[in-house]
Amino acid sequence: MTALVVSDLHIDAAQPQIGAQFIGFLEGEARGAEALYVLGDLFESWIGDDDDDPHRRAVIAALRALSDSGVALYLQCGNRDFLYGARFERDTGGELLADPVIVSRHGRRALLAHGDALCTDDVPYQRLRALVRDKAWQSAFLRLGRPTRQLLADEARSGSRAHTAQQQTMLMDVNPATVEALLRASGVDTLVHGHTHRPGVHTLEVDGRTCTRFVTGDWYTQGSVLCWDDAGLRLETRPR
Ligand code: MN
Repeated sequence: MTALVVSDLHIDAAQPQIGAQFIGFLEGEARGAEALYVLGDLFESWIGDDDDDPHRRAVIAALRALSDSGVALYLQCGNRDFLYGARFERDTGGELLADPVIVSRHGRRALLAHGDALCTDDVPYQRLRALVRDKAWQSAFLRLGRPTRQLLADEARSGSRAHTAQQQTMLMDVNPATVEALLRASGVDTLVHGHTHRPGVHTLEVDGRTCTRFVTGDWYTQGSVLCWDDAGLRLETRPR
């Protein structure tokens, strides 16, 4: 049996083919897996667990059908969808994971993370992240009416696009010292993350240990699927 890891689907009603493709994956390849991990940015936005967007709800129903079929489902928040809570877990039948989290499978331990917290060169973004991940900020936001939250989420998306467009590309990747510090503190030698949309496998030395950093690319153009079984971890690409 194999565990599958994907990230950065950015599912949005404006690009319905991404959601349709992912539902196809949930009804197809994922059914044969022992577990599916979604490392954040499943949705392009998530305004709270009462989010009733029909396009997102169809994906949630497909996730629920997958977990009901016996595939263990684990999800992390991303920078787009950081407001998942208990109802989201119930609706999907999945379990929300901390970021980062250490997962053991097939005799190997790996750190799983969305990846945005590793991009510490992007100082304005890290400031925003600290704000929106604050529990008090989140409860205040969730008390707003749904239309207001949707409006604010749409504005945040345009702001984020403008920021990404003007930021130097180097600053949008992970910071090597931050990655090293995480591997050092955890004592784990495998890290899997998404977020940067730069799929690849990188080796690095940390205190004499050879560590591997797997980066899953975005789902909709890069087709990244990380497979984890007795043979180890492999980053694969599905045709798009
Ligand atoms: Mn992201």
